[in-house]
Amino acid sequence: MKSTIATIVDLLGGEARRNDLGPLIILRFGALLALVVALFSVLFHLVMAAEGQEHEWFTGVYWTLTTMSTLGYGDIVFQSTLGRAFSMLVLVTGVLLVLVVLPFGFIRLMIVWLEAQLRTRVDTRVPRHLKGHVIVSMYDDVADELVGRLAHAGVESVVIEADPVRAASMHADKVPVVRGELGMRATYENSAFGRAKLLLANASDVVNTNIVLTAREASERVPIVATATNPEGEAVLKLAGANQVVLTTRRLGRQLAIRVPVGPAKALTVGRYKGIAIAEFPIRDTRLGGLTLKEAAVRTHTGLTVFAIAKRGHLERGLPGTVLREDCIGLAAGSSEQVDALNRYLAEGASEGGRVVVIGGGRVGREVVRSLDARGASVGIVDRRPSLRDALVEIADEVTIGDMTDKRVIEQVGIRTASSLVLTTNDDATNIFLAVYCRKLNPDAIIVSRVTSPANVEAIHRAGADFAVSDSEIMIQSILAAVRGSQPMILGEGLDLFGAEVPRSLVGKPLSDSGILARTGLSVFAVEGKGTIEAHPRPGRILGKGEHILFVGTVSERDEFERVFG
Ligand code: AMP
Repeated sequence: MKSTIATIVDLLGGEARRNDLGPLIILRFGALLALVVALFSVLFHLVMAAEGQEHEWFTGVYWTLTTMSTLGYGDIVFQSTLGRAFSMLVLVTGVLLVLVVLPFGFIRLMIVWLEAQLRTRVDTRVPRHLKGHVIVSMYDDVADELVGRLAHAGVESVVIEADPVRAASMHADKVPVVRGELGMRATYENSAFGRAKLLLANASDVVNTNIVLTAREASERVPIVATATNPEGEAVLKLAGANQVVLTTRRLGRQLAIRVPVGPAKALTVGRYKGIAIAEFPIRDTRLGGLTLKEAAVRTHTGLTVFAIAKRGHLERGLPGTVLREDCIGLAAGSSEQVDALNRYLAEGASEGGRVVVIGGGRVGREVVRSLDARGASVGIVDRRPSLRDALVEIADEVTIGDMTDKRVIEQVGIRTASSLVLTTNDDATNIFLAVYCRKLNPDAIIVSRVTSPANVEAIHRAGADFAVSDSEIMIQSILAAVRGSQPMILGEGLDLFGAEVPRSLVGKPLSDSGILARTGLSVFAVEGKGTIEAHPRPGRILGKGEHILFVGTVSERDEFERVFG
């Protein structure tokens, strides 16, 4: 939560924050007040003289001050209409100056003072011992999640922030922050860029280009990963000196497309960890559907071990009695050769994927169509923007222009006859609505969906989507992979691969007695010992001191692991 002080300063800051006006404001206000009092005191004597009254000069100042402050003792009063009108003018001026302007001036002064306090709170330099850290250029929700996940992976990070108030607020929220301007070389030197693991340029394409160019002056060697929103930005960032450019829309489109079955059923290697391939495979319309893991005998036929099955974002541990239900996806671990063997095993007796309908023809939808087209799928696409028609006709077999929340359009695109549906609109509410509607019209279709806000993942799965992933998850996984020096692993929104040292309470216990699955929901897929890694260890495997357990699960399940065993 943003700190209270920073919030007040943010709200009331205005110009006072930018220009150091504090003392000047008070001086100016004091001078104005003295001038007004002097003027009214002179006028007091003139109006009194017109009424035939005479007072000493001090009485004029006394009357003006008591009237302006609304005290008005009534010991000195005007008798004429002119005198009363003058009294009212002095009163109204007093109310404006003393009761309105003075408090505002005071608040502005307080703001300047608070800001001066905040400025000294955040360092402009990282600690000397810091190295192997990740420097993040811009703080937002995705960066916040990334910093948290890096911390869990044992990697320190630091976020650059130019605004002292925002920096202080982040500092109060325990975000590791350093103050500095993104366009200045000194910022990167002060952030120990030369000792960092990598720099993430995650602002707009234009700002990122400036970041890359400036940071490259500080070090030629340290990798820079930049995000881009369009292919032109990607090209410029590479030219500027970024080692890797994450074009999120393209990666998102490809991740959605590979979840769509085209041709004979195939296992998909979604990531690798120290030589172990993690593969997803469809169960629907394959020889495995409806069998228990023991009956399916995947290990006997391929050597791969099925460590979990996933249904709409939830994992179930792969035990001999686990039923391979048609609406689930299998998760297996092993070597690349074993994944190939699974492909051959799945291909026997599998039915071919049919027509695919992609809903939303924006950047993500078009990327999905290109990927599917390259695999030989027959693809129909729908978008509500008529201006996209030409671009869509070039890449898809059927194009419909219309709003998918309109019942007639839904009928027109043939949802009932499609084998797979890919929801790529940029509106989560529309995708959730379509998932419910399409699932009702076509209970057997594979539904793959994009989500914009990770908070809607649960809802989209409940609505009937088999797989969902967000732009932010793609970004986070890409950066984590760059830090680990591996390929990004996208297991589906919210699911991740974690590692943890065997907790003291579990040393010497067999895996089956550890209670990891029962108490946290995490699914163990490997145990890493000294120089060895054992994919899908037996339930009787004794957990040794200093070994690492590798599991798949959600971030909250990982947090639960730390709470229970930490
Ligand atoms: P982008 O974020 O570039 O992938 O664009 C998302 C696309 O989804 C845009 O082209 C929108 O026109 C499209 N879209 C959003 N809502 C609907 C809808 N209800 N029906 C059809 N297309 C939609």
